[in-house]
Amino acid sequence: MAKVSLISLGCPKNLVDSEGALGEVTRAGHELITDSSLADVIIINTCGFIESARAESVEAVGQAVKLKKSGTCKAVIAIGCLAQRFAAEMAEAAPEVDAFLGIGHAGLLAETIESALGGKTTVGGLELPTKWDEHGPRVQSTPPWTSYLKIADGCDNRCAYCAIPDIRGRFRSRPKEYIIDEAKRLADAGVKEIVLIGQDLTQYGEDLGMSNALVGLLVRLNDIEGLRWIRPMYCYPAKVTPELIDIIATGERIVKYIDLPLQHGDNDVLNAMHRKGNVEQYEQVISDLRAKRPEIAIRSTFIVGFPGETPAAFHNLLGFVRRIKLDRVGVFTYSIEEGTPAAKLKNRVSAKTAEVRLDKLMRLQQGISLERNKAFIGKNLEALIESTTDGVAIGRTYRDAPEIDGIVQIKDCAAKPGAFVNVKITGADEYDLVGVTQ
Ligand code: SF4
Repeated sequence: MAKVSLISLGCPKNLVDSEGALGEVTRAGHELITDSSLADVIIINTCGFIESARAESVEAVGQAVKLKKSGTCKAVIAIGCLAQRFAAEMAEAAPEVDAFLGIGHAGLLAETIESALGGKTTVGGLELPTKWDEHGPRVQSTPPWTSYLKIADGCDNRCAYCAIPDIRGRFRSRPKEYIIDEAKRLADAGVKEIVLIGQDLTQYGEDLGMSNALVGLLVRLNDIEGLRWIRPMYCYPAKVTPELIDIIATGERIVKYIDLPLQHGDNDVLNAMHRKGNVEQYEQVISDLRAKRPEIAIRSTFIVGFPGETPAAFHNLLGFVRRIKLDRVGVFTYSIEEGTPAAKLKNRVSAKTAEVRLDKLMRLQQGISLERNKAFIGKNLEALIESTTDGVAIGRTYRDAPEIDGIVQIKDCAAKPGAFVNVKITGADEYDLVGVTQ
């Protein structure tokens, strides 16, 4: 029996994998601890998405190796996307690491820990799965009232800048009954909010020959007693159908919120990114969503500095963002990813220009977000309480996904974390709201 700590890096999809790994480690009889400096075994679930994320993963592995060299821990195990992508290179660069397991690590951890504690090194789990592989219950690491629920893995969209299809493999849907069963278990365990994740939810069921399968899944999830909020993330804009808009609009437990990664607002750039759909279609989807539910909150992400993004193309992006007035926006500068089609493109945009464009777009969006947040002053919103300190609570409204969106600060609120309260909004800034309980 070993003391095992796990460091989870990257996106919520990786976090769910980490929770699965924690479940496996527990079933193997090991003790989970959070303080790596006291651990016998340190597992790092790495991220390999873009350069900055890779650097963070390498740093975390380096810290664990330092602990091993100092004799406090006996084994270091790197799993996940970076291990999947660069196991051989990492094994050469860090021979002190006892094991590298790719994204197929689930089911291999118990034996890998045994081998590592026995002084053997392992490189495995690198074969990209072609169909969904269900594993035992995970250990929830999010607060007890909210949980991510993964409905698929991998991606077939092959956007020109993205390495995920090569890291996580072909798109594979999780069988519906597994998802429903887990959602029911989570609801029975007191989870109120389920955040649906995958690389692209709208691809759900395509690999099983089903169309619009996400709609059917949402209909079933919407019936689960005990759940209050079902939040769909990562919906590919060109694949948002009228039926999907309907169930989001009418589903009682489905929050009036959608995450719609649009990536750009210029058709030539979208084509160069190999993104399906075009600006006109995206604007139609957004107006269809708002026609059904004017209060719907829309989140998106944009990439600036993509090769070939001329000043005119960037101007089109600014115009697009000004027109569609989104609630939540994340902006990233283009990051060259080895092995992706975009990495071969010539007409690069300098890092400085990309930074200037990111800043311009963020400042434009800050004004829009402030305007949209201010529209809630005087209105009542339901908030899920995340924490309370000295009578001031921090919560999230339907407009706020965990960790990436805003919060509402509620004065004179004694509600417990995990409770829902009605809040009268009294103030707003570009990210957050302020209010009092009603
Ligand atoms: S939709 Fe595009 S950006 Fe998203 S994971 Fe798939 S290939 Fe990558």
